[in-house]
Amino acid sequence: MDCIFCKIVAGEIPSDILYRDEEVVAFRDINPQAPVHVQVIPKEHIAYLSDVTEEQSGLLGRMAAVANRLAKSEGIAEKGYRIVVNCGEQGGQLVPHLHMHLLGGRQLSGQLG
Ligand code: AMP
Ligand code: ZN
Repeated sequence: MDCIFCKIVAGEIPSDILYRDEEVVAFRDINPQAPVHVQVIPKEHIAYLSDVTEEQSGLLGRMAAVANRLAKSEGIAEKGYRIVVNCGEQGGQLVPHLHMHLLGGRQLSGQLG
């Protein structure tokens, strides 16, 4: 499958991987929008948040837990951070493999769109 994030999971393209377990991988964003900008993704190819089934919903909690853990290890947990999931074209999703953006390390704007 021609998916850039699946290729990162498979180690076929280089990335700065910060965390990996049986279900989740996290790596630094290649074009960071904040001092800390990490992508937390499922290893399994799920294209959109809207594709997540009831049975898979626990995965979202695990991704959030990994994001929280990385917020601590990246030193942004205390001051606060933002987790963003874009879904689909008008949601601003460019890479069709589910991902949570973890952003922090500066004051983020109040605007979301
Ligand atoms: P989205 O617009 O929500 O689909 O976000 C996609 C994110 O993936 C953007 O922040 C990109 O900078 C990031 N990205 C794209 N390609 C790579 C890559 N090879 N390694 C790390 N991050 C990437
Ligand atoms: Zn994929």
